[in-house]
Amino acid sequence: MGTYHFQPTKEFAKELDQGDALANYREEFYLNPGKIYMDGNSLGLLSKRAEKSLLISLEDWKRYGIEGWTEGEEPWFYFSERLGELSAPLVGAASDEVILSGSTTSNLHQLAATFFEPTEGRNKILADELTFPSDIYALQSQLLLHGLDPETHLVQVKSRDGKLLMEDDIIAAMSEEISLIVLPTVLYRSGQILDMARLAKEAHARGIIIGFDGCHSVGAVPHQFDEWEVDFAFWCNYKHVNGGPGSVAGLYVNRKHFEKSPGLTGWFGSKKDKQFDMLHSFSKAESAGAFQIGTPHILSMAPLAGSLEMFAEVGIEQVRKKSLLLTQYFMDLIDSELAEYGFTLGSPRDDRRRGGHIILEHQESARICKALKKEGVIPDYREPNMIRLAPVALYTSYQEVWETVQVLKKIMQGKLYESYENIRGIIA
Ligand SMILES: *Cc1c(COP(=O)(O)O)cnc(C)c1O
Repeated sequence: MGTYHFQPTKEFAKELDQGDALANYREEFYLNPGKIYMDGNSLGLLSKRAEKSLLISLEDWKRYGIEGWTEGEEPWFYFSERLGELSAPLVGAASDEVILSGSTTSNLHQLAATFFEPTEGRNKILADELTFPSDIYALQSQLLLHGLDPETHLVQVKSRDGKLLMEDDIIAAMSEEISLIVLPTVLYRSGQILDMARLAKEAHARGIIIGFDGCHSVGAVPHQFDEWEVDFAFWCNYKHVNGGPGSVAGLYVNRKHFEKSPGLTGWFGSKKDKQFDMLHSFSKAESAGAFQIGTPHILSMAPLAGSLEMFAEVGIEQVRKKSLLLTQYFMDLIDSELAEYGFTLGSPRDDRRRGGHIILEHQESARICKALKKEGVIPDYREPNMIRLAPVALYTSYQEVWETVQVLKKIMQGKLYESYENIRGIIA
């Protein structure tokens, strides 16, 4: 496609689709006819390749039983490492710095148990007040395990506007008492990208360890964890990586920390050739693999083989390029079509600051989301007043973005949301 000159017409959406280098990937996914899926940042859709790789592991189980660990078409014993290697380009890491294991929250527990080493004067953790609740619960409980009071030892940087964080404010909070920093790469509501390179540099200048939660960026935004010298990171694979509900998560440890013993140790953290020696002394793997605990959840990991293969083919830079244009186009349409209906755009407009989704704020958001679903568009709602919309590079078309905005316009014009209560469902 040539340069982008926005027009609000359906023809322009079609032109964008015609110029889309990733358009063919749409056919790789199971899309629900008549529905427009804008929730790929909560649960990515199933691809045919992910389905196929899951079936391979089922078939291996059927055919080989226990021998599947080493003899199957996809030997399970090396699966977490192999998928870690396939994930490494998504986060800018070397192959042995990434492992797939556990869940986002259990990986944060593992990493905090490993990297939070409080001393007399340096015994606080720095996070932020906008982050995902599970991360805060994990950090609070890690402090409690050290006999420290989360009320005083968990410092949460404040947001000035309830949506964004300022790096200056985060840096100002890096006091001598801070031992560990855990922050999101991309905020789950506003979609703001934090300047990770700058934050890592400032943390290290003060002798503080820093790690990132990549749930809302991995698979949508490129990272350079090695170059930025991030200490560790963790993320889920069921959002932008399309690994399926409860998919096994990712974990990155910078190689400068390979000598560190995991805070939570288990036999799958052993050197692969020593694991079955069955000794009571632990031979730690010299890789991110050391941070695994028990037997990997093979069937929750297998879809990732097919999904990550697609990312390897396309490359994360291409994914990002389309994702940025999708969200830019979305915002331009919102400006041109929805200005009169009281929406505020809650996500950053600057490409360097914007993740893979956009946020619309409106006082009637909860019921506008219900009306959207009734009209065939799947968004998600986030408290207190946000409609979150994620067009996904591998399977969303520009025409679907156009149609979503038309549906929103119809809902607002006809006040269709008034037939619903303005409260969220159990899963918003
Ligand atoms: C989705 C998400 C989680 C979820 O954690 P799980 O352990 O996978 O349930 C955690 N943190 C962030 C920032 C998320 O977006």
